[in-house]
Amino acid sequence: MRRYLIAGNWKMNKTNNEAVNLAKRIFSDSQGIEKVDIIICPPFTAIAPVYNVIKDSNIRLGAQNMFYENEGAYTGEISGEFLKSIGCEFVIIGHSERRKYFNETDVEVNKKVKKSMAFGLTPIVCVGETLEEREKGKTEEVVKREIVGALQGQTDMDKIIYAYEPIWAIGTGKTAHPEDANKIHKLIRDIIKTDFRIDETRILYGGSVKSSNAEALMSQPDIDGSLVGGASLDAKSFVEIIKAAANLS
Ligand code: PEP
Repeated sequence: MRRYLIAGNWKMNKTNNEAVNLAKRIFSDSQGIEKVDIIICPPFTAIAPVYNVIKDSNIRLGAQNMFYENEGAYTGEISGEFLKSIGCEFVIIGHSERRKYFNETDVEVNKKVKKSMAFGLTPIVCVGETLEEREKGKTEEVVKREIVGALQGQTDMDKIIYAYEPIWAIGTGKTAHPEDANKIHKLIRDIIKTDFRIDETRILYGGSVKSSNAEALMSQPDIDGSLVGGASLDAKSFVEIIKAAANLS
């Protein structure tokens, strides 16, 4: 039985003080919820202070990105080792905002996935189609290309977590219809099973998830939780999504 997982992607939001306060609220409001895995992904600068807030709780820490080299002359980059050393266990890789604004390619995503696991981090690999690709009927082709691209040559693939995030649904208030989203989750699961022989994989849905739509999405058989952007910046709405998952568990 796959456990629900709710991950909050805070993106480029929250100063250290704000991040610590948000983490404290999520911690206090989610106490007693044991059936759901909870991850928060603050900006790099806030990871260490947030770690001090949640280190004795069931909330775990993720980063929003990392670089694929170990160390060296890569100004502005952050290594997997740095993340591991400040309490991170997870790292989001290939988020559509990185692909769009920082030209991240499938090849770089693949290298980052490999390196994250070499440092003992669990990657949360994001895939999803643009509105244009969807309208041209290319959703399945794009998702398949991104999944295969991320996984080529990887070992330890059973640890990887996936997030299907249709790009047209991110931060727009539009959400995929639960059954349509489930169809793509099932496709991802089938690719991973058939091409890479991995049976149990958690696949999160992301794209304007909020308390009012979380239950409908997560009650689909192949949706194992949510990667939450905007709604994770407010403790009340984030914890309501966690509670929706707990009620379904
Ligand atoms: C995201 O950035 O991963 C995301 C899903 O954002 P939002 O929930 O704001 O659409």
